[in-house]
Amino acid sequence: MVGTPELRDLPPPPPPKRSFDVAIIGAGVIGNALAVALARQGRDVLLLERDLSEPNRIVGELLQPGGVRALEQLGIADCLDGFDAVPCHGYQVRYHDQPVHIPYAMEANGQRPQGRSFHHGRFIQKLRATAKATPNVTIVEATVSKNLIKNAASGHIIGVRCTPRGSKHEICYFASLTVAADGCKSNLRSEFITRTPDVKSHFFGLELIDAKMPLKHHGIVILSDRAPVLVYQIGTHETRALVDIRGKPPSQTDGSLKSYMLSTVLPTLPEELRPSFKKAVDDSKSIRSMPNQWLPPSVNDTPGLMLLGDSMNMRHPLTGGGMTVAFNDVVLVRDLLADVDDLADTEMVLDKMAEFHYRRRCLTSVVNILAQALYALFAADDPNLKILQRGCFAYFQRGGICIDHPVGLLSGVLRKPLVLYGHFFAVAFYSIWIMFRTSSPLLWPVCFLRSFAVFYTACVVILPYIWSEL
Ligand SMILES: Cc1cc2nc3c(=O)[nH]c(=O)nc-3n(C[C@H](O)[C@H](O)[C@H](O)COP(=O)(O)OP(=O)(O)OC[C@H]3O[C@@H](n4cnc5c(N)ncnc54)[C@H](O)[C@@H]3O)c2cc1C
Repeated sequence: MVGTPELRDLPPPPPPKRSFDVAIIGAGVIGNALAVALARQGRDVLLLERDLSEPNRIVGELLQPGGVRALEQLGIADCLDGFDAVPCHGYQVRYHDQPVHIPYAMEANGQRPQGRSFHHGRFIQKLRATAKATPNVTIVEATVSKNLIKNAASGHIIGVRCTPRGSKHEICYFASLTVAADGCKSNLRSEFITRTPDVKSHFFGLELIDAKMPLKHHGIVILSDRAPVLVYQIGTHETRALVDIRGKPPSQTDGSLKSYMLSTVLPTLPEELRPSFKKAVDDSKSIRSMPNQWLPPSVNDTPGLMLLGDSMNMRHPLTGGGMTVAFNDVVLVRDLLADVDDLADTEMVLDKMAEFHYRRRCLTSVVNILAQALYALFAADDPNLKILQRGCFAYFQRGGICIDHPVGLLSGVLRKPLVLYGHFFAVAFYSIWIMFRTSSPLLWPVCFLRSFAVFYTACVVILPYIWSEL
C-alpha cells in the first residue's frame, strides 16, 4: 500500500526531538549512571557519545566497595553481573618481596565489604545497556564540539553542537542543563575552569593470562626501588598489570620499553607472576599507556553547565578511586536535584552545585589526597621519601587500625578527612622512630637532624593536596 494517495495524505513524521531537560556529553562511567539517575526522576535526558562500540582501555577496572555501594544506591548494581567481573577483597602490599595483607575493613555488621574488578569496556557496555533501557533516555552517537551553545545575552549554556557518527553536518540540541562528562581528555573543561591537569607519571598496562596470583582476588601493590606496579585480576583468566613510570618513558619503537619491562620490572615481581608477565611482554605488539593525572576539583559556577567525573577532578589511579568518586557524585547530584522541578532555574541549580562541592568533600578529598600522598610514598625517589615509604610499610605491618582505617579511607567506606591526616602524620612519626631503631646509636645525632627533613618532606607531600581541596 506504500505510495497510495491515502498514505501520501498522512501528515509528515514529527521532526527528531531537539530539546531536553538534560544533555550529557559522554556515555562513560559517570555519564551513563547520571543519565539513568536523572531519567528516573522523570527528566528527559539526552546522552551523547562519540563512540558507542565497546571501549578497549586500561582504565577503570577495579571498583572499590564504596563505589559498589553507590551503584546499589542508584539501583544499578546489576551492571556488575553477568560479564565475568571478579570480587576483590582488599590488597596485598609487597615491599621488596615482603608481603602484608590488607583486607577491606570489617564493618559494624561483622562483614567485610567487597569491591569488583573487570574489563572496563564490558562494564561500560553494561552501563550503556541500562541507560538505553531506561525510559526518558535518548542516546545519540555523536561527537560534541568544544563550542557549546550560549545565550548571547546572559552567557548561559543552553545546548550543544555535535556531529552524528557517519554525518558531516553539525546539529544542535538544546537543554536546560548540559553536563560535560567527557573524561580525562575533556576538550570542554578549558573554557570553564582555570585548573589544568598535571601529569604525574604514566601507567603501562599489560594483560596477563592465567597469572598465578600471590593472593587471589586481591589487588597486589609491588614496591621496590622503582615506581610501583599494580596487579589485579579482571576476569577468570585475565589479570591486569599496571607498571608506573615516572618521567620520560622508554621508547616503544626501538624496543627499549620491552627491555625495560624484562630487565628492570620483571625481577621486582613475585616469583609466581613472572612467567605470565614475561609472556605478556613478549606477546604484546605495543604496550598501552595512560597518563596518571592530578586535577583538583573546581566549583561548577557556569549557568546551565556542570562538569563531572574526570573532566572536573582527577587523582592518581594507584588507589583505584576514580569510579568510586564518580558514582558517589551521581548519588549526590541526584539527591540535590530531586527537589528542583525545573532545571532551567539556573540560580537554584547553581546553589545546589555549591552545596554539591561542599558535601562531596568528605569522600572525594579523602580519596584524592590519599591517592596523591600514597603515590608519593610508594614511588619514593629521594632518601626522605624512602624513609617514609619504609615507615608506611612497617605501619601497615602493625595491623589493627593501622590497616583498617587506611583501607577504609581508600575504599570509599570511611569518609573522614581528619582520620586520614591523623594516620598520615602517624606514619611520618613512625618512620622517624623506625629510622632511629634501625640505626646505630652512634648515628643518632645524624638521625635527629634527618628527622626534621623527613617531617618536612611529609608536610610537603600532603599539605599542598589538602590546600587544593579547600
Ligand atoms: C591508567 C588508569 C587506570 C585507572 N584505573 C582505575 C581503577 O582501577 N578504578 C577506578 O575507580 N578508577 C580508575 N581510573 C580512573 C577512572 O578510569 C576514571 O575516573 C573514570 O573513567 C572517569 O569516568 P568519566 O565518566 O569521567 O570518563 P570516561 O569514563 O573516560 O568517559 C568519558 C566518555 O566521554 C566520551 N567523550 C569524550 N569526548 C567526547 C565528545 N566530544 N563528544 C562525545 N563523547 C565524548 C568518551 O568517548 C567516553 O566514553 C584509572 C585511570 C587511569 C588513567
